[in-house]
Amino acid sequence: MTGWPAMQTPDIRDLLKSRFGYDEFRPLQADIIQTVLAGRDALVLMPTGGGKSLCYQLPALCLEGLTLVVSPLIALMKDQVDALRANGVAAAYINSMVPPRDARAIYRDASLGRLKILYIAPERLPVPSFGDFLKSVRVSQIAIDEAHCISEWGHDFRPDYRNLHVLRERFPDTPVMALTATATAQVRDDIVEQLAIPDARRFVASFDRHNLTYIVRPKRGAFEALLASLRQHAHGSAIVYCLSRQDTENLAADLTAEGIQALPYHAGLDPSVRRTTQDQFIQDEVSVVTATIAFGMGIDKPDIRLIVHYRLPKTLEGYYQETGRAGRDGLPSTCVLFFGASDRHALAGFIERTEDESERVRARQKLQQMVKYGQLQTCRRAFLLEYFGEDYDQTACGGCDVCLSEREDFDATEIAQKILSAIIRTGERFGAAHVIQVLRGSRARRLRDQGHDRLSVHGIARDHDRVELYDIVSLLEDAGLVRHSGDRYRSLVVTRQGRDFLRRREPLTLTRVKREDVDPPQPQPAVVDLDFDRDLFARLRDLRFRLAQARSVPPYVIFGDRSLQEMAHYLPQTRQSFSHISGVGRVKLHDFADDFLQVIGDYADSRGLAERPRPQRRTRRTRSTTRAGPTHRQTLDLLRSGLSISDVSRRRGLAEATIMSHLEHLIAAGETLPLDRELPAPERVTRISEAFARTQSPALAPVRQLLGDDYAYEELRLVRAWLDQQRRQSPPESGPSADVPPP
Ligand code: ADP
Ligand code: ZN
Repeated sequence: MTGWPAMQTPDIRDLLKSRFGYDEFRPLQADIIQTVLAGRDALVLMPTGGGKSLCYQLPALCLEGLTLVVSPLIALMKDQVDALRANGVAAAYINSMVPPRDARAIYRDASLGRLKILYIAPERLPVPSFGDFLKSVRVSQIAIDEAHCISEWGHDFRPDYRNLHVLRERFPDTPVMALTATATAQVRDDIVEQLAIPDARRFVASFDRHNLTYIVRPKRGAFEALLASLRQHAHGSAIVYCLSRQDTENLAADLTAEGIQALPYHAGLDPSVRRTTQDQFIQDEVSVVTATIAFGMGIDKPDIRLIVHYRLPKTLEGYYQETGRAGRDGLPSTCVLFFGASDRHALAGFIERTEDESERVRARQKLQQMVKYGQLQTCRRAFLLEYFGEDYDQTACGGCDVCLSEREDFDATEIAQKILSAIIRTGERFGAAHVIQVLRGSRARRLRDQGHDRLSVHGIARDHDRVELYDIVSLLEDAGLVRHSGDRYRSLVVTRQGRDFLRRREPLTLTRVKREDVDPPQPQPAVVDLDFDRDLFARLRDLRFRLAQARSVPPYVIFGDRSLQEMAHYLPQTRQSFSHISGVGRVKLHDFADDFLQVIGDYADSRGLAERPRPQRRTRRTRSTTRAGPTHRQTLDLLRSGLSISDVSRRRGLAEATIMSHLEHLIAAGETLPLDRELPAPERVTRISEAFARTQSPALAPVRQLLGDDYAYEELRLVRAWLDQQRRQSPPESGPSADVPPP
């Protein structure tokens, strides 16, 4: 099966820059695009912010005919189309909000070949006028966004999605791309089956959101800590999730009283108020929204810098999804969870009132996992990813409070003895909260009723605070000395190992996160960030805001934060250098260069600042003049320390393609890299080497043509780098078909 012929053999990388303004593909994007251009179906699983849209938008520009995108989120269609149009792509959408007359005009444009991309809501599929339209149009690609909606196994089943077979029947040979951010193996298989795309190539990206830093803080003193976090992110958008409608309103008022303008959002508000709040948030007119989880579904805002859970989420699934709304643009962003016993009890109580037995059991287990996350003394990212079934081989992610905090060993012998004794003396029938109250000498009614105020262990750990005791209990659990009973009471039970420890009076050393009592340090995201001029950034943000208002589009449609940061770092003074900024394609260069250059120029003049040179992007494969800069060095050190290319990419928060280009740069600069372990199977290396020898050129495309699309560009690129390195090390006559490394 082949798709419609491409207009020309497109250099997709050129298109990436000229139409979208980006220099590098994100992981998997290039492969996915090649797949659809080769006429094959694809199933794309990527986390939120992974860059799914580009996977069908870029091929749409290469293919003759129309790309149809089915999307259930009406609110997002307009934003997507605005963003495409800002890049000069002829795009439109049709949903229930579009008046019939406009719809007819759009159909006509599409039939006449004047549109490249058309978004449609699934409700359209069975409508007769849409059926007529399909007869008149040439469709070269079908993209199904939020593809999990087709599956009843998913959490968001939409019966309308079952009508997608209409498209399959009308266009049996057109490649279909199904995209989703949430899919279990079951949903994945269901999508493939329902869409009848059994041969779809499957692309599964890592669900690690490397640019997000995960932080848990004690609920005590939460408001002060929240203020500090919001002030730290004053130039970005933030969502604070609360438990109840009342909480959202109270918190918004409290924040506003502290000088941080915030609006509440919950399902009880008038729809028009909700819409206005959402618009103001998207337009950057208000940067903080305190909300119930009702907020966020219909929002694609790429530059949310902070997501706060002011209350405990019920499940890790929910938590991952809600935090996933932060930093879709790939820039460093923070997720803070305030964690305390009271929320947990509130939720547990709520769950116990659930009628359905199996549902109750499941909800209880989910909550326990969430609580576990809050109490972790090990990497939170690793825990999250493992929960979602991904192997995470690093032990320290550098992007969660546990990994970023200093650790200390402490002698836990005495306190452990006290805790274990208290558990045993109270009959192993009580949860951590109760045991800790006993240890701290509480005179609460509940304790007195049980006679626990008269036990010898009552008050023996008065000098430890509550949070500390919770932490130690959870460390003891990790160490296997205590465990929780499996039932709803979650009573603490001393294990056999715990009894041995007590009997033998062994010393015990535990490791914990160092706690500063006052003013805990705010961990900084580990992701590499540009060192840009904050003042200038704020001015550029103002300009962006004004341009967006004038055009009635969200500011991020004009430029993303990354573009503004680069401008505030490189201070481009000419159109030429402005065109190198990430996000500046041909159309945006034309539309916005003058305005932005003016602001940058004025700013630089008044402060006597000069433009900063860009690190050279290598076009010709020259050797002698290449020097490795600091960013290359960093990559080099990591590679030499034994990390793989994908590890380095994750660690540094850079695309694999970027790391690859570092690698090429380093080799050209004369470094020797441990590439052997990255190479594909020896017979593939041989075939690729031979192909390079035949084409007599370092260009990838001709080699790919020779070998067919079973060979990925990344693979070719890697072998090319390896060949370069070989050639440099061995005498010249050994040529490109150098020996294949040992398997
Ligand atoms: P998803 O649909 O997977 O959540 P999007 O398609 O909305 O993600 O992309 C998230 C953000 O990343 C958008 O702002 C998009 O413009 C940006 N983006 C996508 N691909 C690239 C790329 N190759 N380089 C830089 N930014 C990109
Ligand atoms: Zn970590």
